Amino acid sequence: MLSGNANTLRGMTDAEKPLDANSLQAHAAARLQLYDTASHAVSRFVPIVPGKVGIYVCGATVQSSPHIGHIRAAVAFDVVRRWLLRLGYKVTFVRNVTDIDDKIIDKAAAAGQQWWERAYFYEREFTKAYDALGVLPPTYEPRATGHVTDMVELIGRIIDNGHAYVVRDENGEPTGNVYFDVASWPRYGELTHQKRSAGVDAAAEADEAAAVADRMGPSVDAAGGDKYNPVDPADASPDKHDVRDFALWKSPKPSDPPTARWRTPFGIGRPGWHIECSAMSHRYLGDMFDIHGGGLDLRFPHHENEMAQTKAAGWNSAARWMHSAWVTAKGEKMSKSLGNGLSVPAVLAQDTAWVVRYALGSVQYRSMLEWSDQTLAEARSAFGRISNFIERAGIALADFGGQPPREEITAVPADALPTDFVVAMNDDINVSGATAAIFTAIRSGNTLLASLAAESGQTGSAKGGQTGSAQDGAGQADQTSQAAADAPTIAGAEKTADGATTEDLLRNTLISVRAMLDTLGLDPLAEPWVGEAVGTGSISAGAGPSEHEVLDTLITEQLAARARARKTKDFAKADAIRDSLNAAGIAIEDGPNGSTWSLA
Ligand SMILES: [Zn+2]
Repeated sequence: MLSGNANTLRGMTDAEKPLDANSLQAHAAARLQLYDTASHAVSRFVPIVPGKVGIYVCGATVQSSPHIGHIRAAVAFDVVRRWLLRLGYKVTFVRNVTDIDDKIIDKAAAAGQQWWERAYFYEREFTKAYDALGVLPPTYEPRATGHVTDMVELIGRIIDNGHAYVVRDENGEPTGNVYFDVASWPRYGELTHQKRSAGVDAAAEADEAAAVADRMGPSVDAAGGDKYNPVDPADASPDKHDVRDFALWKSPKPSDPPTARWRTPFGIGRPGWHIECSAMSHRYLGDMFDIHGGGLDLRFPHHENEMAQTKAAGWNSAARWMHSAWVTAKGEKMSKSLGNGLSVPAVLAQDTAWVVRYALGSVQYRSMLEWSDQTLAEARSAFGRISNFIERAGIALADFGGQPPREEITAVPADALPTDFVVAMNDDINVSGATAAIFTAIRSGNTLLASLAAESGQTGSAKGGQTGSAQDGAGQADQTSQAAADAPTIAGAEKTADGATTEDLLRNTLISVRAMLDTLGLDPLAEPWVGEAVGTGSISAGAGPSEHEVLDTLITEQLAARARARKTKDFAKADAIRDSLNAAGIAIEDGPNGSTWSLA
C-alpha cells in the first residue's frame, strides 16, 4: 500500500527546513483529480497560474440563521481549500455575502427593521457559525452592496455586446429593468445542459448527484418557496423577450425602501442576484479563475446564468465548477419543514463543534450527507478513538517534548503524508478514504504505544527509566524492530535500522495523524477546538464520562510510573512525568495514600 520514501516523515519533521514549493507541486499536486459540473467528468487539476489557485464560492444570502445545509457546503469547500494549501498552492479564496435581496427586504420590513440591519445581524451569525466549525476565513469576503458600480459596469458591457436589453417606458425612458437576452447567447446551458424547454429535470444522467437533486426538487422554505433559487418577481415580467431571459437589473417594487435603490444609466433599481457573483468574482479573481463552487442548489439557474453573463461580457468564466451535495434527513432533502432543530446553534447545543464538523465532513462533497443520530454517534466514537491516541501519544512522548506544536503540524507537506491518504484526497477529495487512512495510522500508533508500555514495564526499574536519548543501545533497537514489524504502515519504519527509536516512530505517527486530521480541519489541538470543554488545554473537546474514564486510566498509569521512578530515586524522571501532566493541565496532589489528580 505504501511505497518508497514518499511517506517518510523523518526529513520533514525538521521544522527549520523550508518547504520546497516546486517539488511539492511536482509530486502529489500533479495527481489531483477533481470533478467538473460542466464536463460531467473527473479530470486532472491544472492551475491557470502555476503554484496559485483562485476559488470563488457563493456565500449566504443573509436573511435568517444558518442551518447545517449551509455549513455543509462551507465545510466541503474548506476541505478542498485545505488540501490545495497542503499541496503547496497559494490559494485565494473568495466567498461573498448577498446582503440585498427580496427576502431580506421583505423580512426586514415585516420585522420593523432596516434591511441592512437584518443583513448585518445574520452575516455575523454566519461568521460565528463558520468560526465555531473551524471553516477558515475567506481571503476576501465581499458584500454585494459594496460592488454595485462593478455590476453597473458589467451590465453595460453585456448590453454593448448585444446580449442584454433595457426595458423602456412609453416615453422611451429606461425603467430600471434590464434582461439578459438568452436567445442571443447560443452557448446558454453549457454548464448544466438544461434542455431548451427549460425545467430542471433535464440534467444529464451522467451527473448522478444532480439527477438525484433534481428528483428531490427544490429546498422549500416555510412559505413554500424555493429558498435557494427564489422566484424573482422581475423574472415574471411581460416585458421579457423570452421566458428564459433573466433580470440583470431590476426596477424597484413600490414597497422597496428608498435606501435599496441605486441610480444607473438604465434607470433606478437594484441588482439581480446572478449579476452580483459575476461582478464580485471578476473583481477579486480576474478574467479567469480556477474553481467556482457552491451548493448543488445553485447549479441552475444561478450558476448557469452567471456563466452566461460573464462570458457574454467578454470575460472568461471559471475553468472548473464544483458543487457540494446537500444534507438529507431520512433520505429526504432537509428543509425548513423539518423544524429548526437543524440550525447551527441548535446542533451545537447537542454536540461539540468538533463532532459536528466531523459529521458534516464525513462523506465526499458530491455525496448526499444523511444527518441522523447515527451520523453523530459515529462522529462521537471517532472523536474518542482519535483523542485517545493523540493524548496517550503526547504523554508517552513527555521526554521528547510532548505534544508537537501546531506549527510543526501545519508545516507537513502533502508529500510527507501517508500515501493512502494522499491518493484518497487526490481522488476528487475522497474524505472516506482519507479518514480510513487516518485510522490505519492510529492503529499503528497504538501498536507503538503498546510496545513502549511493554518496554517500560520490562526495563523501567532496572534502567531507572529512560532519559530520552535516542541512542539507547541494542536492546531498544530490538524493541523498535519489533514495533516496526507490528506497524508496517508507520512512516519511516524502514529506517529503524538507522537507529530510529520507538519514540521517534511514535512521534512521526503522531505528527502524521494530526497533519492528516488538520487537512480535514479536525486536528483536535487546532485553535477552534482547544478549550472547547473541560479546559485541559489538551484533548478535551467532547469529554463525557467515558472520556473521563479513559483519562483516569492514562493518568493513573503515569502516576504509577512516577511512583516507580521515585522508588528507584530517579527524580529527574519522576519530575518529568509530573511536569508533562501539569503542562497538559492536570494537577497532581501527593498524599499519604499515593497521588491523586484533578483537572487544573
Ligand atoms: Zn453566487
